[in-house]
Amino acid sequence: MYSFKPDILAQLIEQLDGGGLKVVDLTTPLGPETPVIDLPPMFAPSPGLTLTEISRYNEAGPAWYWNVLHLGEHTGTHFDAPIHWVSGKDLPNNATDTIPPRKFIGPACVLDLTSDVERNPDFLLTVERIQAWERDNGQIPAGAWVLLRTGWSKRTSKEEFLNAGEGGAHSPGFAPECSQWLATQRDILGVGVETVGTDAGQAGGFTSPFPNHNFMHGNGRFGITSLINLDQLPTTGAVVIAAPLKIVGGSGSPLRVIAIAPA
Ligand code: MN
Repeated sequence: MYSFKPDILAQLIEQLDGGGLKVVDLTTPLGPETPVIDLPPMFAPSPGLTLTEISRYNEAGPAWYWNVLHLGEHTGTHFDAPIHWVSGKDLPNNATDTIPPRKFIGPACVLDLTSDVERNPDFLLTVERIQAWERDNGQIPAGAWVLLRTGWSKRTSKEEFLNAGEGGAHSPGFAPECSQWLATQRDILGVGVETVGTDAGQAGGFTSPFPNHNFMHGNGRFGITSLINLDQLPTTGAVVIAAPLKIVGGSGSPLRVIAIAPA
């Protein structure tokens, strides 16, 4: 049995307060302008956020301010649970309220694809590229988040971020066999991306559509999207905490994703 080291949590707080560790906010601001994925018109769209005031220190509530939220579960920086995809619909503990909370915390493996994506917005990560990363950094450990740093979060306008063009959206993602390999050959928590979804912009038109969703969720892995500040994380050595809202039967939710990293 592994025994608890009594001073480890005290050391964590000490390091956070003393500046040895920093908290990196990987979350994009959530507002009415936050872009939402565009699906082909035959599918039902997901609404972005609308925020309606209940009261603001006025007649409706003299001493208090609060709002009503209306939004799709998959809006802004958000979590994809296995139940989100048909391939994961029958897995145990596959929804936001039933995933064991231990699975919201894991070490981050950051793959830097920034220059590839600058050259080609449709860049797809390959198995070979991950294996090259592992030769430099060691094997992706069990329980890790695999995060794709692409620089995409620097695209701050909705148009640049969604990057719709000839034949649909153009944004980076995973080659189908890469998603399959990661989901089955490595025991990861899931993948995180800077783009609006965990599949590439063109992935709806792949031979087997949306392969990253299909393979990740079919194997009980998670997705996190619209991350920012991945350039503030080391390649390895940070810990990511990504805990969705405990929506009963939820397929995902917006969330605050934070990383603890060496300062
Ligand atoms: Mn989603």
